[in-house]
Amino acid sequence: MIYRGTMSMFVFTITDPKRDGDLEADVIIHEYTHGLSNRLTGGPANSNCLNSLEAGGMGEGWSDIMAVLFQLKSTDTHDTNYAIGPYVSGAPGGLRRNLYSTSATTNPSSYSDLNDPSNQEVHNIGELWAEMLYEVVWAMIDQAGFESNIYNATSTAGNTLTMRYIINGMKLQPCNPTFITARDAILQAEQQITEGNYKCTLWSAFAKRGLGAGASSQLSSYTSSTEVPEGC
Ligand SMILES: [Zn+2]
Repeated sequence: MIYRGTMSMFVFTITDPKRDGDLEADVIIHEYTHGLSNRLTGGPANSNCLNSLEAGGMGEGWSDIMAVLFQLKSTDTHDTNYAIGPYVSGAPGGLRRNLYSTSATTNPSSYSDLNDPSNQEVHNIGELWAEMLYEVVWAMIDQAGFESNIYNATSTAGNTLTMRYIINGMKLQPCNPTFITARDAILQAEQQITEGNYKCTLWSAFAKRGLGAGASSQLSSYTSSTEVPEGC
């Protein structure tokens, strides 16, 4: 059977008059990235690998972080916060519960928040995953600089490398990945692309949000860890 990708775009009903998602870049990039993550995870022949609740939630997270990565400006710093959908929601804070931020005050989320009953919904799970990746983005930019030309895929700047790690991680991760296996796939992608030069940068960023070396999940119970592996 031949599957043809379809991207779903909506008119948002939060404001009066209603606002069209086609007029907000982060909404378009978010939806487009669903096609990317669904297609790449589990191999090119399988587009059914983000079906578990946790994997589907990460699908939302990848979509949010790619929307941010495409909109970063050279004037941004690690103190800059990002909203998703501020136009369609008619609110500066956008559609998510917290802004994406490297401040634990502005966004206090951590891996073990997956235990919270409020995080049994894909967009809420996605907020936790995207926040971790937001930490990765800024740890990488602080370490390796910023590339303002998003078409320069061979740039060695932090934002470009992060985009490549994330996309290659999608190709490497198993069907229905978890936060832990998706983190490991991103670390494997880093090893393949930059030979471990940023391994500890990635570990520190994940560990800041509880997905450190000792993080674990058993029987739907999630335990945070701020540990980094020996040598980092
Ligand atoms: Zn989505």
